[in-house]
Amino acid sequence: MKTAELRSAFLEYFRQNGHTIVPSSSLVPADDPTLLFTNAGMNQFKDAFLGREDRGYTRAVSSQRCVRAGGKHNDLENVGYTARHHTFFEMLGNFSFGDYFKRKAINFAWTFLTDPQWLGLTAEKLWVTVYQTDEDAYRIWNEEIGVPAERIVRIGDEDGVPYKSDNFWSMGDTGPCGPCSEVFYDHGPDVAGGPPGSEDEDGDRYIEIWNIVFMQFNRTADGVMHDLPSPSVDTGMGLERIAAVLQGVHSNYEIDLFQSLLKSVSEALGGVDPEQASVRVIADHIRSCSFLIADGVMPSNEGRGFVLRRITRRAARHGNKLGATGTFFHKLVQPLEALMGEAYPELTKARPQIEKILKQEEEQFARTLEKGLRLLEDDIAQLSGSEIPGETVFTLYDTYGFPVDLTNDIARERGLTLDLEGYEKAMEAQRERARAASKFGMDYNAGLSLEGETEFTGYGNFEDDGEVRAVLVE
Ligand code: ATP
Ligand code: MG
Ligand code: MG
Ligand code: MG
Repeated sequence: MKTAELRSAFLEYFRQNGHTIVPSSSLVPADDPTLLFTNAGMNQFKDAFLGREDRGYTRAVSSQRCVRAGGKHNDLENVGYTARHHTFFEMLGNFSFGDYFKRKAINFAWTFLTDPQWLGLTAEKLWVTVYQTDEDAYRIWNEEIGVPAERIVRIGDEDGVPYKSDNFWSMGDTGPCGPCSEVFYDHGPDVAGGPPGSEDEDGDRYIEIWNIVFMQFNRTADGVMHDLPSPSVDTGMGLERIAAVLQGVHSNYEIDLFQSLLKSVSEALGGVDPEQASVRVIADHIRSCSFLIADGVMPSNEGRGFVLRRITRRAARHGNKLGATGTFFHKLVQPLEALMGEAYPELTKARPQIEKILKQEEEQFARTLEKGLRLLEDDIAQLSGSEIPGETVFTLYDTYGFPVDLTNDIARERGLTLDLEGYEKAMEAQRERARAASKFGMDYNAGLSLEGETEFTGYGNFEDDGEVRAVLVE
C-alpha cells in the first residue's frame, strides 16, 4: 500500500465510523503562544477537549502535518540516526470530544490494524503498553481484544515523578493530557532492540506506531490537574511508520515517498550514495523547511524563524559534507512538491517562494560555512581530550552562524562532546559586553542608535525543554 493510499484508507475507515474528516491545520498553531509548532493532531482541537468550543461534531479524523524540532517534543537530534524519527511527519488521528472513550477507541484501532479488509496486520506482531495503574485499558486489551498478557506492558512514572511517563501524554507543560495506551510493531529479530519497557527499548526492533490517549485532565500552569468536562480520546499514528510496516520495510526512509526523495537528494548532489545518514537528514529537512515556509515561517534569529534557520543550516552542512559545491537544498522543493503537492495544495502554491527563501539562506550561510568548518577542524586536530572547548563553540556560533546543535552534530560524528558550560560562559561575557556597549551609547548620546550593528537581542528562550537558545547577532 502506497503512503498516499494509507492516508486515504485511514480517513475513510473513520469516516465510515461516524467521524468528520477535518483538514490538517497549519504548522504554526493558531493563537497558542505555548506551542512552538504543531506537534500533534490534537492541537487544533485543544479547545474542543477543554469544552470551550463546539465544533458541531463529536468525532473527528485527520492527517495532521507536524514538526518536532523544538519545544517539548524535539526530535531534531534523532533524525537520520533512528529509523523512525523525522522533524516533519504526518500524524493520522481519530478524536472523540466527550463521545466514546477507552473501549471504543481501542476497538477502532485494533480493527483498523488487523481486519483484513483494512490493514490486516498479524496480531502476534503487535505489542501494547498501558499506563501502570490503568486497569480499564489493560482489561479491554487482554479480555476483550484478546492480546495475551505477555504482549501487554505496563509503564509507570519515570524517576518517581507523577505523570512523567511514556504512557501519560501531554501536549506541553499545560493543557489537555491523560494516560495513554500505545501499539508497537515488532519488526523481527533481525533488528536490534528490546520490547517497550525493557532496558534496550530505544532500539528500533519494536517501533511505536500508534498512541491512543485517554484525555481526562487539563493541567494548569500551577501543575494542578483538573478533570475535563467529559472524558475524550485523542490518537496519533505516524503515517510514515505505519507505511513502513505495510510496505514490509523496517525504516521510514525505505517507504515509497522517501525512496523517491532520497533519490532526488542523491541527484542534486551529483549522484552520491543515497544510503547514508546525511542524505536521510537532507531528505527529512527539506520537508520541514518547505512546509514551515509554506505556513508562513520566515528564517530569522529568534523563535520559530530561528528553528527554521537551524534546520536549513544543518541541511546545508550535511550537503557540504557530501561534497556539495554550490547551493543544492532549494532544488529539492520541486521533487518534494511532485510527491506531496496533491495532498497539500498549499505546498504547490508556495513553491516559488520556498525556493527563493531557501536559496537565499543557503547563499548567506555558504559564505561562512567553509571558514567555520576549517576553524573547527583545526581545533579538533589540536584537541587532547574528547571535548570541544566552549570558546570554539561560541566563536562558531557568534562569528560563523553555526547554531549549537549543528556543532554538536559534527562533534557527535567524531565521538566528541561540547563544553556547553564554557559556551554559556562565553555567551554571558558577550551579553555583558553588549550591555556595557548599549549603556555607553545611551549615556553618550541618547539619540545614537546602535541597532543593526551592535544590537544584542538577548536570549530567545522560546524552548520549554530547558535548553537556552541564543539569538544570533549578525
Ligand atoms: P517515540 O517514542 O518513537 O519518539 P512519541 O512517543 O514521542 O514517539 P507520540 O507523541 O506518542 O510519539 O506521537 C504519536 C505518534 O506519532 C507516534 O506513535 C509515532 O507513530 C508518531 N511520531 C512521533 N514522533 C515522530 C517523529 N519524530 N517522526 C515520525 N513519526 C513520529
Ligand atoms: Mg518522541
Ligand atoms: Mg514514545
Ligand atoms: Mg508515544
